[in-house]
Amino acid sequence: MKKINFNAGPSALPNVVFKKSSEAIKELDGIGLSILEISHRSKKFSEIISRAKDLTLEITGLESNEYEVLFLQGGASHQYLMVASNFLNNTAGYINTGTWSEKAIAEAKFYGNVIEVASSKDKNHTYIPKDIKISCDLDYLHITSNNTIFGSQFHEFPRTDSPLIADMSSDIFSRKIDFSKFDLIYAGAQKNIGAAGVTLVIINKELLKKNKRKIPSILSYQNHIDKQSLYNTPPVFSIYTCLLNMNWILKSGGIELIEKQNIEKAKLLYNEIDNNDAFYGFVNNSDRSNMNVTFGINKNYNSEKFNEMCLKNNIHGINGHRSVGGFRVSLYNAISINSVKILVEIMQKFNKEG
Ligand SMILES: *Cc1c(COP(=O)(O)O)cnc(C)c1O
Repeated sequence: MKKINFNAGPSALPNVVFKKSSEAIKELDGIGLSILEISHRSKKFSEIISRAKDLTLEITGLESNEYEVLFLQGGASHQYLMVASNFLNNTAGYINTGTWSEKAIAEAKFYGNVIEVASSKDKNHTYIPKDIKISCDLDYLHITSNNTIFGSQFHEFPRTDSPLIADMSSDIFSRKIDFSKFDLIYAGAQKNIGAAGVTLVIINKELLKKNKRKIPSILSYQNHIDKQSLYNTPPVFSIYTCLLNMNWILKSGGIELIEKQNIEKAKLLYNEIDNNDAFYGFVNNSDRSNMNVTFGINKNYNSEKFNEMCLKNNIHGINGHRSVGGFRVSLYNAISINSVKILVEIMQKFNKEG
């Protein structure tokens, strides 16, 4: 029986993505070949990747004359390095909202000065820093839009005159935002886009002009753009799953409708956490993530028992990140409101019996 999967990533995807991608492993669209064996330079794959680019622009509402879309390898972690190698000429600003920001900062330091313009570290990343003052010229300002591990999320983005760059790995395509405020967006696919192995990068053409350093081809955005994401063999299967998932997003009414459902799911769960005295949330109410809901169990309740009850009810993937503890329930696009209702019922039952 299929489990209810609240994993933080790789995570649940819509059933239609599982179905169509597994069919394509056997045979892609009746062409007599598997998606795993066609050439990445074939006409068929060109259609797939070019359609995936078009759908990325359609979902985000960005224009192809202003933005480039790339499908790269190395995960979001590789983007930490790529962003800095391409654009950190002197000084860059980073907002530190948790583990992923810290990793981005560490990589950037190989290339130039990094200023942590704000940090939530003082309170173990349970909030999003506001009213950020930036006193000097920055090559760019980097944020992590959703803090997957601690469960906080930017609901308003910092205003800056510098180019704005975001790691959106865990909340891209989950809500309607003005994507044109960003000069570069990157996201590992394995949370809300498709199968692990590919990283989506969306980049403003104006930003590209600011690359001053000579860098190796594999690190150069311009090189990957010139080669249309085919500088080396791309992860063809992962890209195909992204295409299937983006089709699903548009068929489901686009991110406006998906956002409504995501808010509804998150409200239901936070409401239970706040009203059920067995549980408490980790993050400041106004900064809570609608994608990764983190919480703990109050002392006089037995968390082992809660774990067991969840397992018995076929619920999977709710343990908190090893660095935070407690619980983390990830509510990515493919999670249905029904799955959240089942969890909430268990929480209520646990309160009575726990
Ligand atoms: C999961 C995650 C990453 C790591 O992505 P990789 O593709 O494994 O490198 C980075 N940033 C955020 C915000 C994440 O959620």
